[in-house]
Amino acid sequence: MRKNIVAGNWKMNNSLQEGLTLAKDLQSALNGKTLNCEVVICPPFIHLAHIAGEVRTIGLGAQNCADKVSGAYTGEVSAAMVASTGAQYVILGHSERRAYYAETNDILKEKVLLALANELTPIFCIGEVLSEREAGIQNQVVESQICEGLFDLSAEDFGKIVLAYEPVWAIGTGKTASPEQAQEMHAFIRKTVAGKYGAQVADETSILYGGSCNAGNAKELFSNPDVDGGLIGGASLAVDKFMPIVEAF
Ligand code: PEP
Repeated sequence: MRKNIVAGNWKMNNSLQEGLTLAKDLQSALNGKTLNCEVVICPPFIHLAHIAGEVRTIGLGAQNCADKVSGAYTGEVSAAMVASTGAQYVILGHSERRAYYAETNDILKEKVLLALANELTPIFCIGEVLSEREAGIQNQVVESQICEGLFDLSAEDFGKIVLAYEPVWAIGTGKTASPEQAQEMHAFIRKTVAGKYGAQVADETSILYGGSCNAGNAKELFSNPDVDGGLIGGASLAVDKFMPIVEAF
């Protein structure tokens, strides 16, 4: 059975001390709770090693990794370095990386391979911008992101990927995809995966929704059969906002 996952993307927020406090407070809030999902947090790189020592039942992920193995790439952080902190996940292809740092599907393909080689689970983000949805080409956009970024993988390796559908027009805007829009796209994504790798791999792939998911809409979004959790930005920065999302399953 595929996993339900609620992952917090902290983006470029919080000092190290604030991040440590947030992680500790979240761990305390989760202690003793029986959940129907795995909880993951993705702090900035410099928090990872510190937070790894504070979390027990929370998964840990980075928000990015380099597309190179190692060497003279000033400012970059490799997948091996991320893994060495104790992290198990890495977000790849977030729309902010695609838009502001020119990350193409070709670059992302390299990052995915390096993440997998270092036993990190990629949370691979896909999603259309507003003009693409208005033009009715959201399915083609998402399909090409998946094909170009991931479909060179073997079925075994694809089975290690978590997908996150994040309509760019919903990220940080307060404008959420409706439960119907989310379900329709998630079903399309699963069908696309099934077309390449077969029904079993598709059934076992966790597909998260991201984009202004909050305490008020999480339950309805997660009740869709093809929505297996959320990638949460703003609402992951406060325990009292994140916990109701985690508990929405
Ligand atoms: C995100 O950036 O992955 C995201 C979903 O952000 P927000 O929840 O703030 O829309």
